[in-house]
Amino acid sequence: MKNGYPWELKRPERVRHIHFFGRSDVYKDAQGKLQHRWVDTHDVLAVPYDIPIPGYRNEVVNTLRLWRAASTDIFDLGEFNAGAYPEAVAAKNNAEHISMVLYPNDSSENGKELRLRQQYFLASASLQDVMADWVAVHGENFTHFAEHHCFQLNDTHPSCAVPELMRLLMDEHGLDWDSAWKITSHTMAYTNHTLLPEALERWPVRLFRQLLPRLLEIIFEINGRFLQEVARRAPGDNALLQRLSIIEENGEQMVRMAHLAVVGSFSVNGVAALHTELLCDELFADFHKLWPQKFNNKTNGVTPRRWLQWANPALRELLTEQIGPDWKNDLDHLKALAPFAEDATFRKRWDAVRQINKARLAKLVLEQTGVHFIPGAMVDTQVKRIHEYKRQLLNALHVIHLYDRIKRGEGSEVTPRNVLFAGKAAPGYFMAKRIIKLINNIANVVNHDADTAGRLRVCFLPDYRVSLMEQICAATDLSEQISTAGKEASGTGNMKFMMNGALTIGTLDGANIEIRDAVGPEHFFLFGLNAQEVSQLRGNYHPEVYLQADHDLQRVMDLLHSGYFNAFEPGIFDPIMHTLNNPHDPWMVLADFTSYKLKQQEAAALWRDQTEWQRLSILNCAASGVFSSDRTIREYNADIWHLKPLVMTP
Ligand SMILES: *Cc1c(COP(=O)(O)O)cnc(C)c1O
Repeated sequence: MKNGYPWELKRPERVRHIHFFGRSDVYKDAQGKLQHRWVDTHDVLAVPYDIPIPGYRNEVVNTLRLWRAASTDIFDLGEFNAGAYPEAVAAKNNAEHISMVLYPNDSSENGKELRLRQQYFLASASLQDVMADWVAVHGENFTHFAEHHCFQLNDTHPSCAVPELMRLLMDEHGLDWDSAWKITSHTMAYTNHTLLPEALERWPVRLFRQLLPRLLEIIFEINGRFLQEVARRAPGDNALLQRLSIIEENGEQMVRMAHLAVVGSFSVNGVAALHTELLCDELFADFHKLWPQKFNNKTNGVTPRRWLQWANPALRELLTEQIGPDWKNDLDHLKALAPFAEDATFRKRWDAVRQINKARLAKLVLEQTGVHFIPGAMVDTQVKRIHEYKRQLLNALHVIHLYDRIKRGEGSEVTPRNVLFAGKAAPGYFMAKRIIKLINNIANVVNHDADTAGRLRVCFLPDYRVSLMEQICAATDLSEQISTAGKEASGTGNMKFMMNGALTIGTLDGANIEIRDAVGPEHFFLFGLNAQEVSQLRGNYHPEVYLQADHDLQRVMDLLHSGYFNAFEPGIFDPIMHTLNNPHDPWMVLADFTSYKLKQQEAAALWRDQTEWQRLSILNCAASGVFSSDRTIREYNADIWHLKPLVMTP
């Protein structure tokens, strides 16, 4: 916004008032009915900015409406005149802080007051905006509102929308509780994005009471009525009431935003088949028993316009030449590629496209990091947010193992690889930053050792972002999807790679399972414990067992322990070794090392047979149609939104 943006249009005439602080007040309305109102509030203005979003060949342009927070007073002249200069600017600053930065989405940031303000600000502004459009056409008649609206809650971040819609309908539009609840619980639908307990939003009741007192009152009422219904169905089961309650009562009272979202929604979905299964059987098991019909799966997808057509122009042209242009609108048409996997001429052209993309990436890597990728070597890539559950550490241990093999004289048997890492760490996530440091130190040792020439290069590309992924996914041979089974809700990077012809090495986690089903198990490098085995092993995990059973792993850990990768920085990797050797390591990195190492050897062996590798590369692309976000959106519409689809224009 600093420099302006020509596609962004300020709409000051549609500004909204957002309430904070104050208290809830009861009064009698003109008909003598008891009503609530939120009074003595400090208001913040929500100013809309519109960006047009053109559809792909459907003659529709949607509006993306973004909100900027602004102070209701430009400046408190009274305070200023009384000499309170800092106080006079503070109110303005405080209001504008709300939309200053977006909290990073990385499953770790939690419990920050500014974030709750931001969440309520955005939910309230958007709901008020939609309601104003409705009232302009239908007046105060909300009978058909639910038929015409659906709010798809993208994680719990906007789940304040549940009590806020109740408040608007009751306090601002005079509906009674039952009518308001019927509308709210028939318009809200919730998508869950993670099972990690540390990422589930919980807000202190104390904070809610101070910041959003009227909303808290409504949440308590929703919870009271909900728990009454549960008690009717399961009399005397107090433990069940405690488990289901929107309010957590152990220690400081907390609002469980996921429970609020489930109770307030008519649909609850996970983002891959396994994830939805685990939602129903574990995280929301009690809710699932109560309302099985609410739960459904919507496996994620990625848009082929960005992740194939735009990101990979060389492949785009080859595909269109070979199978025609229909894949652009219906990615299932990629199936027509499969027979050409057996065609030597086509495989040669496929390989030529891949070489173009790999040269483009090698140039970028050289410019950004000074690392010279080995021409013709396998590009082995793990790019994603840095998180312990994603197990960049497992990959790092494997790189050390490859290096160790070269150093002990097996260089000629090690398939040449360029190992690429990229990913951001949350600002306060110590271990994630230490993992980045380890990868950089390993890269430094490996890349400067003459014995690795032509065999191994390691690179950590900084500032991972969409524009980098566009180049990376088009040039990757082996896609690393190695999270601890049961922890990655879906993953979408895995789909971008597959679409562009990478083979996947991965665990049975998230959408990997569906990727393997789609391409066929013989065309996927599967390793590691499955989700059930991971949960059975918990409490009985002994890392030393895996060390004793695998001499290669023992050597890798010894190298780390000796300070080989931190000669001038003593002790810096102690925290990493400590978690790896800890029987309470939730990610069980060492448990999967041997199986990972062996599967990497299979991948390396296949790479030496380039004909076979290119064949599988083509088959992976050909089977990736189901991971188009067009399919995902079609399913959301068929099961949840029920809109009439547009007809494509030629
Ligand atoms: C696709 C993508 C992600 C998600 O990657 P996962 O491997 O699914 O975690 C994250 N960041 C960027 C920049 C991406 O393009």
